[in-house]
Amino acid sequence: MSKKTDVIVVGAGMAGLSCALTLQSAGLDVVVLEAGDRCGGRVQSDRLDGYILDRGFQIYLTAYPEGKRFLDYDKLNFKKFYPGAIVRKDGRFHRVADPLRSPKDIFATLTSPLGKPADKVKVACLQKQLQMESIEDIFDKPECTTYEVLRREGFSRQMIDDFFKPFLGGIFLERDLKTSSHVFEFVFKMLALGDNVLPEQGMQAIPDQLAARLKDGTIEYGQKVEAVKDGSVVLASGKKRSAKVIVLATEQTTALKLLHKEIQANYCSQTSLYFSSDEAPLKEPCLVLNGDGDGYVNNVVVLSNVSPAYAPPGKALTVVSCVGDPPVGDAELENLIRQEMEEWFGASVKGWKHLRTYRVRYSLPAQSPTARNSTFRSYQADENLYLCGDYLETGSINGALKSGRTVASKILSEIFAKVG
Ligand SMILES: Cc1cc2nc3c(=O)[nH]c(=O)nc-3n(C[C@H](O)[C@H](O)[C@H](O)COP(=O)(O)OP(=O)(O)OC[C@H]3O[C@@H](n4cnc5c(N)ncnc54)[C@H](O)[C@@H]3O)c2cc1C
Repeated sequence: MSKKTDVIVVGAGMAGLSCALTLQSAGLDVVVLEAGDRCGGRVQSDRLDGYILDRGFQIYLTAYPEGKRFLDYDKLNFKKFYPGAIVRKDGRFHRVADPLRSPKDIFATLTSPLGKPADKVKVACLQKQLQMESIEDIFDKPECTTYEVLRREGFSRQMIDDFFKPFLGGIFLERDLKTSSHVFEFVFKMLALGDNVLPEQGMQAIPDQLAARLKDGTIEYGQKVEAVKDGSVVLASGKKRSAKVIVLATEQTTALKLLHKEIQANYCSQTSLYFSSDEAPLKEPCLVLNGDGDGYVNNVVVLSNVSPAYAPPGKALTVVSCVGDPPVGDAELENLIRQEMEEWFGASVKGWKHLRTYRVRYSLPAQSPTARNSTFRSYQADENLYLCGDYLETGSINGALKSGRTVASKILSEIFAKVG
């Protein structure tokens, strides 16, 4: 009789990969069952005619502590964004530099009409303060919304509307800033401590690097799990697979369904439109934000200015991102985005070629204090049935990696230490 698998991990996203790697390095026999045809979950890229299209615009932060633990940064050959942003407001572009990391642009930042000069000084003070606090301290503080913490820190409403709403809105995928102050302070600390980057060859390089470190054949693709029962999973094909321990490393909505929990899991969406052009609409590797708050566009980046490998030679690749899932069809959305972009960059936008639109409905778990506290968020559902995923920590690559490592450590100490 063949030996029973130690652990089945359901899902090869960042959480499932870090869980499987941790368990496998401890000597366990691990199988990862993935519904899709590749690893990475929400961190994937497509290749189209020489362009790299991340499935929804995203950024990696080099200060992520779990990333430092799991990833070989040198091999990812990170390409940096400008530390700060350009904000489009009242028909003009204004620069907001990271005061600690781009001191040469402080004058432009202080004199820009976004917020008040005191707001820009407060950004530097908050960065300094968070640099000194540990991540544990941040998560131990009383929790409120991001909006409340920004007001408490004394930021003006104008600075919040012009800068924080589009900037953080693009990260949290909601512009009301209802996201937990814990998540905000964690992200702001990460931004202050490291660089915002893309792997040279696209975001998919991140999960690919982890998957390559697993033993050959660990991940089985095209294996959708339909049910979990008594130490077994039932696949869409009807086949049953058993293990001593099962870990559900799916997004929260699927985990709740598989556990038959009648709890709603709210989430945030993002829509990204990719365009190619002969000329880049701007020269810098910089995030451009919509400070007016109208229209569908939240942020724009010329990705080929960050990593030239994102476009073939002589071409530029621009990604335009919207927070949410605009309630119009793809053709109408493209037209509306083109109109907005023409207001920003002029008639050259007429020559842009639309490559693809990605609507990622489940992009991030909802992260307001109410949402986080009113849903099922537990690393264990039953005896020998565990969970991991970004929703258990923070909605980020770091949060997903951390959750996978945390659940693996629990399994190693609670189950496999006992059986020796
Ligand atoms: C558009 C977008 C922008 C983002 N921006 C950023 C950013 O800038 N920076 C950042 O750090 N993070 C960002 N994130 C968040 C980050 O990508 C996620 O937090 C993280 O990847 C979640 O990983 P996970 O492993 O928890 O879940 P997932 O990546 O969702 O992995 C779950 C896996 O389970 C598989 N699965 C699901 N159901 C089944 C089933 N029944 N059977 C078998 N397999 C199943 C899925 O196919 C998937 O591979 C962004 C996400 C999106 C989508």
